[in-house]
Amino acid sequence: MAKLIDGKLYAEALRKRIAIAVASLKKDHNLIPGLAVVLVGEDPASKVYVANKAKQTVEVGMNSWEHKMPADTSEADLLAMVQKLNDDPSVHGILVQMPVPKHIDSAKVLNTIDPAKDVDGFHVVNVGKLSTGQDALVACTPTGCVMLAKDTLGDLSGLNAVVIGRSNIVGKPVAQLLLAENCTVTIAHSRSKDLASIVRGADLVIAAVGRPEMVKGDWIKPGACVIDVGINRIERDGKNKLVGDCDFASCEAVAGSITPVPGGVGPMTIACLLHNTVKAAAAIHKVKTPEM
Ligand code: NAD
Repeated sequence: MAKLIDGKLYAEALRKRIAIAVASLKKDHNLIPGLAVVLVGEDPASKVYVANKAKQTVEVGMNSWEHKMPADTSEADLLAMVQKLNDDPSVHGILVQMPVPKHIDSAKVLNTIDPAKDVDGFHVVNVGKLSTGQDALVACTPTGCVMLAKDTLGDLSGLNAVVIGRSNIVGKPVAQLLLAENCTVTIAHSRSKDLASIVRGADLVIAAVGRPEMVKGDWIKPGACVIDVGINRIERDGKNKLVGDCDFASCEAVAGSITPVPGGVGPMTIACLLHNTVKAAAAIHKVKTPEM
């Protein structure tokens, strides 16, 4: 049976280290990192995410602001809000919760955020820095995946990593991070042929597809590490259930280690967001980023 990778436990420990870092910035530099989150519209899942982000931001001792804007907010008004936060010296991290309503160009919004405050890591400047090996604010979920993989496997150098999914949010940045860790990276996607045989070559599988239980145990190389990013809501036995992109029971029987859903990658995202906010605050104030 595979070792269970406990993302909840890892994220808790990371948040404790972040709280210590925040306290040291306050004591040594009179600096309190601050995160502003902008939510446009009434999407229930987004509301839950934003409330959790705010709660955990405050818990580690940082300043938190929530800006709720109605669903019919114009693109110009949202861009003006982002600009106001760019100009506010007490704000070190800005996150516009995605998805934004369809009448708003999300790329335009993301690229209006000051790259120094882009704690989601989606601005083209940060994406470009990541892909050219420069220090960057890197997307949170991919960072969380690689933290868990390194914590489980140690040095990733030379491993065959297969990333399933090529989204800007997860697939592409996680592939870049694994390349930076000296993995041999394959990115598979919806047009890939014979996905099962591609995955069978992987020492490390990152599944970021959004298809419930798509990856089966007989796709997994015995002993491989499986990081399941998928969060899919399904109905089973008359109950609502959260499942990943991997069929947990069959994968667990073959893999060396595996993240559960929930409790694997999920809790890492906010912890990495807080991590980025501390990093951004230190960089903006030109002080050393505390160890976290
Ligand atoms: P997306 O829809 O933007 O991208 C999915 C990718 O999967 C695409 O690149 C597509 O090419 C690929 N794909 C689709 N069908 C495929 C198939 N049959 N075979 C191979 N590849 C296929 O999704 P996303 O935003 O990258 O999210 C992926 C999953 O991760 C979702 O379940 C999402 O909910 C979850 N997610 C979790 C977190 C978190 O844990 N905090 C964060 C972001 C996303």
